[in-house]
Amino acid sequence: METILVKIDEESPDLDAIARAGEIIKKGGLVAFPTETVYGLGGDALNPDSSRKIYAAKGRPSDNPLIVHICRWEDIYKIADPVPEAAKKLADAFWPGPLTIILNKTDLVPKETTGGLDTVAIRFPVDKTAQLFIEAAGGFVAAPSANVSGKPSPTLAQYVAEDMDGRIEMILDGGEVGIGLESTIVSLTGDEPIILRPGYVTKEMLEKVLHKVDVDKTILDMNCHERPLAPGMRYKHYAPKGDLTIVEGSLDAVTEAICQKSCAAKATGEKVGIIATDETVSRYEKNSRADSIKSVGSRTDEDAVGHSLYRILREFDDEEVTVIYSESFSDSGFGQAIMNRLLKAAGHHVETV
Ligand code: AMP
Ligand code: MG
Repeated sequence: METILVKIDEESPDLDAIARAGEIIKKGGLVAFPTETVYGLGGDALNPDSSRKIYAAKGRPSDNPLIVHICRWEDIYKIADPVPEAAKKLADAFWPGPLTIILNKTDLVPKETTGGLDTVAIRFPVDKTAQLFIEAAGGFVAAPSANVSGKPSPTLAQYVAEDMDGRIEMILDGGEVGIGLESTIVSLTGDEPIILRPGYVTKEMLEKVLHKVDVDKTILDMNCHERPLAPGMRYKHYAPKGDLTIVEGSLDAVTEAICQKSCAAKATGEKVGIIATDETVSRYEKNSRADSIKSVGSRTDEDAVGHSLYRILREFDDEEVTVIYSESFSDSGFGQAIMNRLLKAAGHHVETV
């Protein structure tokens, strides 16, 4: 299959190309598209064959449900029942935006899309191209992140192409995404609202609207061996090819330890990458001998860190780095999502110094 890549300018989108992308979805094909979080791999959410194709293209286990993307609030009533008051409040506050809400599904949604579950994950993205595309595709687009299962989610179309070339019909290239980490997932199907995956919309933000929101205890507790509530959080994820270790402790101790580890790894022939911050990058440049040192931004700017993390992991893959050391970050606010992804990317390999 030939994969067509079309550049889309969000300010003046090529509506013909978006209409063609919509037709591909309606005929059961697959199109990758930009959202504000990461690139999505879209298929018709109401067509079981499309969902099967998404799993096949990603090499994703078929018990890992897909998120259904909509472009009009009222379409929620076609795919979810009941729609509780809490869902309306969340939608009012955060939609369109980087929040996924889990509700009980209607019969319209095939179980192939929900990984066999009776619940459905729903998101209304704010990205203009995504909205136009979902509308052209008939209003219900199932889309996981557009990466091969296990790899970091793509934040640029070139990484979608690297993973999906020859596997899907089209890629809409809207440039680099804004947020860079996947949406927050909150489930409203139990007694209390609960966060299944942290993201840009934080617990504190949700609690301003819903008063009390729980967090799945497997999210940041490295020693918790219970099964995460979101099936997708059980799998190895976001992993670069190189062996990633997070080093935590005081910033001085961390930079010193990373420099030492990097020098030792260089001595055994490894190609070393370091995930640094603006505050520390020059120390590594002087003392680490690492092949590639990349700053995710200032430690005080969580948005910048979230925005660059996956891109940097992908760049290390391109550079064939074999060993990566990363500083650790605060786990409050959006930092909870950053640390959650970084810990998974590292297979929970953390050294405290
Ligand atoms: P991705 O599309 O790659 O961002 O992954 C979607 C995430 O949403 C995975 O972690 C899924 O397990 C989770 N998810 C989707 N639908 C449900 C659902 N009905 N119940 C729980 N988690 C879900
Ligand atoms: Mg994913």
